Amino acid sequence: MNKAEFQPVIGLEIHVELKTNSKMFCSCANDPNESQANVNVCPVCLGHPGTLPVINKEAVRRVIKTGLALKSEISMVSKFDRKNYFYPDLPKGYQISQYDMPIAQKGELKFKIKGKEPKTIRITRVHLEEDTGSLVHSKGADYSLVNFNRAGIPLMELVTEPDMSSALEARKFSQELHLLLRYLKVSEANMEKGQLRIEANISIKPKSSKALGTKVEIKNLNSFRVVEKAIDYEIKRQEEVLKKGKKVVQETRGWDEKKSVTVSQREKEQAHDYRYFPEPDLPPLKFSKDKINEIRAEIPELPYNKRTRLSDEYKLDEDSVEFFVYNKDLGEYFEKVVSEFEPNLSKDKLHNLITLATNYIITDLQSLLKERAVEGEDFLITPENFAEFISLIENKTILSKVAKTVLLEMFQTGADPSNIIEEKGLTQISDEEEILIFIEEIISKNQKAVSDFKKGKENALQFLIGQVMTRTKGRINPEQARKILKKKIGV
Ligand code: ADP
Ligand code: ZN
Ligand code: MG
Repeated sequence: MNKAEFQPVIGLEIHVELKTNSKMFCSCANDPNESQANVNVCPVCLGHPGTLPVINKEAVRRVIKTGLALKSEISMVSKFDRKNYFYPDLPKGYQISQYDMPIAQKGELKFKIKGKEPKTIRITRVHLEEDTGSLVHSKGADYSLVNFNRAGIPLMELVTEPDMSSALEARKFSQELHLLLRYLKVSEANMEKGQLRIEANISIKPKSSKALGTKVEIKNLNSFRVVEKAIDYEIKRQEEVLKKGKKVVQETRGWDEKKSVTVSQREKEQAHDYRYFPEPDLPPLKFSKDKINEIRAEIPELPYNKRTRLSDEYKLDEDSVEFFVYNKDLGEYFEKVVSEFEPNLSKDKLHNLITLATNYIITDLQSLLKERAVEGEDFLITPENFAEFISLIENKTILSKVAKTVLLEMFQTGADPSNIIEEKGLTQISDEEEILIFIEEIISKNQKAVSDFKKGKENALQFLIGQVMTRTKGRINPEQARKILKKKIGV
């Protein structure tokens, strides 16, 4: 069988730490504090006998919100279950999770890879559980330490159907989910900090076959790049196995970053029997339609809809749309700027203004913000001033070189662009007689370049134009300078 005849099948299991004030079942701070171990702990999250858990309502709300944003069915009645296993980071000897009655089921998330048709991935379920503590392996030590600050932090688990068919799709889906979680503000979803953890289930099957192949689960995929790399590797590995006439073993594998390979961690025979049973210390969860609708009303415009709207409303290209969707604050700023343009302008003119605003925000403004690490209230340019700035470029009051100076000044002081231009005398010089004065001055000071140009050296003209630009601080249109220079020199 050749390679092209295999079809990869991928499903993801994703854990998300919810950003609540307190932990899932106690009032300890939701703060894994890695620098100071075991400070955010209490008898409940340490699993002392005789303690009772209390459900964090905000965590439940956040799971419902996520479920709704994923177009899931929200269960009107749900419950918690005990998942029993022994591990040093699990003080109770069981994890409170949800087994057969998850909060949300049967959802979907749509995403798009540039240049391809949109794809919809079905979400099997979204449920709520608690995080475990974390083990600390000190270098060289023959023991491990355990930090329970993370134990009991609310953890949302999302499971997808095996609907993805390439490593790139799995990566893009994960990134889309990450973006959605940030829009919903349910989690900071920082992968480096382990707030978003992805496990991938991968199998391959002959293209013609309906039945799915044996799946392998890869754990510890701690960046989107690794999600893609590890899945790609695993697909190739399984293809090799099948091509040799062997069978893929159902197992858990991990990603070895140094070697860029997946390595076996545990085979199916060693898989756990968790002996799930309903959590006896917690009442079932019951939700009213009103409550669910109240949460639904809090959901903001979501990335996918925003893309469609930005592209329809402003006729932006795909990359600009993506930029504004990912950089939500700048996207909102862009829309405020556009709303400042006169509504009764011609279509063409408005389109020019929008294009200019888009480009200046994505390039110049963004690099200023990054370079100077400016955020929030420290950002001084009002949308009104930015819109005016763009209009001054569009109607050619200022040229692009001057625009940079004006923007920097606006950025530093928050001043009105027309004031800056007036104070610093930066308007474009377009009056031919006035231009001629500068050109005559440059010609008389640069006789050598003038004669070089007369002898046919094109570079010399470029040099003279440069001199005019420097002399006038970029206030003369270089094309106009070129024409007048040539005329004056008589070539
Ligand atoms: P398990 O009982 O082993 O946890 P599940 O049926 O709960 O398996 O599925 C776990 C994840 O694996 C889901 O995301 C699902 O989409 C995915 N999955 C299931 N079967 C396959 C398969 N044959 N190939 C790839 N992914 C699969
Ligand atoms: Zn606690
Ligand atoms: Mg499972």
